[in-house]
Amino acid sequence: MGLNWKKYQEHILQTCMDSYHAPLSVDYWRDRFFAYTLSYILPLSFVTLIPGIIVSLQTDLIELIYLDLIIIAALAAIAHTPRIPMLWRKIIFSYLLYVLGIVLTGLLGLSGPGLMFLLAISVFMIIIFPQRWVYLSTFLNALICLCIALFLHLEWMDVETGPDTDQLAVQAWLAISVNLVVLSAIFALLIPRLFAGLQMSLTSQGQLTEALKKEKEKLQVSLKEVNRKNEELEQFAYVASHDLQEPLRMVSSFMKLLHDKYHMQLDEKAKKYIHFAIDGAGRMKQMITDLLAYSRAGKWEKKIETIDIESLLEEITQELSLKIAETQAVLENKGLHPLLGYKTPLKQVLVNLISNALHYQLSGNKAHVIVYQQEREDDWEFCVEDNGIGIDPSKQEEIFDVFKRLHHKEEYSGTGMGLAISKKMVELMGGRIWVTSELGKGSAFRFTLPKVE
Ligand code: ADP
Repeated sequence: MGLNWKKYQEHILQTCMDSYHAPLSVDYWRDRFFAYTLSYILPLSFVTLIPGIIVSLQTDLIELIYLDLIIIAALAAIAHTPRIPMLWRKIIFSYLLYVLGIVLTGLLGLSGPGLMFLLAISVFMIIIFPQRWVYLSTFLNALICLCIALFLHLEWMDVETGPDTDQLAVQAWLAISVNLVVLSAIFALLIPRLFAGLQMSLTSQGQLTEALKKEKEKLQVSLKEVNRKNEELEQFAYVASHDLQEPLRMVSSFMKLLHDKYHMQLDEKAKKYIHFAIDGAGRMKQMITDLLAYSRAGKWEKKIETIDIESLLEEITQELSLKIAETQAVLENKGLHPLLGYKTPLKQVLVNLISNALHYQLSGNKAHVIVYQQEREDDWEFCVEDNGIGIDPSKQEEIFDVFKRLHHKEEYSGTGMGLAISKKMVELMGGRIWVTSELGKGSAFRFTLPKVE
């Protein structure tokens, strides 16, 4: 039933609607309102027909039944006939209802629904016709009322008004029908204000949609550009670091050759210089390797899987077992819980943070590292806490930059790339990473991972 009704309404809308007006204009909604009116008025007119027939039979006004039937048939025709311009459908519709209103008023006078019909049709006309026709129905109502008054006065017509004498009948008719004209005028005055407001909202909505569309297009272009630049940069970093390996290998092997072949002829100073050169080349090789790792940090297999964090930590502990044994470190964990996500980058981030926690310790201090996992509304929060040397609060942001180190290589080895890689990976997974720390007391590195459905 629901589906059939929808289909029927859809059919009337498709038959009647012209495609002249944009959906964001009041005229479009006027047309749509009219098409809906047609779809409702047809079945409802059958409902009003039954009391109409009873009254017609009681008052011997059989012609009213014929008129009702003709009007219903005409309404059905304007609702279902294709290719009639919308304006003409509206004119015929108004004409038919006016005929009915006038006949009802003429036949039943003030005791019938005629005046009510005339008022209803004027409200419909104000809504469905263009703004410039807004006072047309007021004018027509006034004309009809005056004509009937004139006909009453000339005794060409006998309308049921109550009073017996003709003069009183005219006065009674005018007193009552003037209300119709006044009400039509009030509606003609007020309804357009509503439409003006509606048009303003529609216009600003249209402008906003247009602006949004333009912004979206711009954003799309910028996004493409950023992606292209990113790819270029990654490619550049990869090629540069990859191609730099070869000449570097040459420098260190020839330095080693020089040392091995001529160390007898070389004095201590020359040997020291060669040592510096080999050491520098070694560090540069490490930096290049890290740069390569950084450029590849986003290139993991994008497969979401269930990660058992407990066994992941066991794997990591296994990999770091040498360092753990060396430092007699204690590794603890709390609240571990399986989650859905990317295993490769998560493991890499945890490895980086845990090895830093083991590494940045005062010599002789037993490292105590705790890994927490906490479930929050939209994400998971991980924390790797240590009892190490801590980080100066003013440096806590810059340590995530590429090649940023806070210590000399003699103090603590490293290249300053681990946290940059971790940051890149966490952000690519949709989370963020930060640190809270107190110098001399330890650090807590936290990162979040959004929950994946
Ligand atoms: P690397 O360890 O290779 O130097 P990272 O990017 O991992 O590079 O770390 C950058 C700097 O941040 C380190 O040089 C160190 O000064 C500081 N840092 C990182 N982790 C810790 C930690 N757990 N405790 C104290 N300092 C840390």
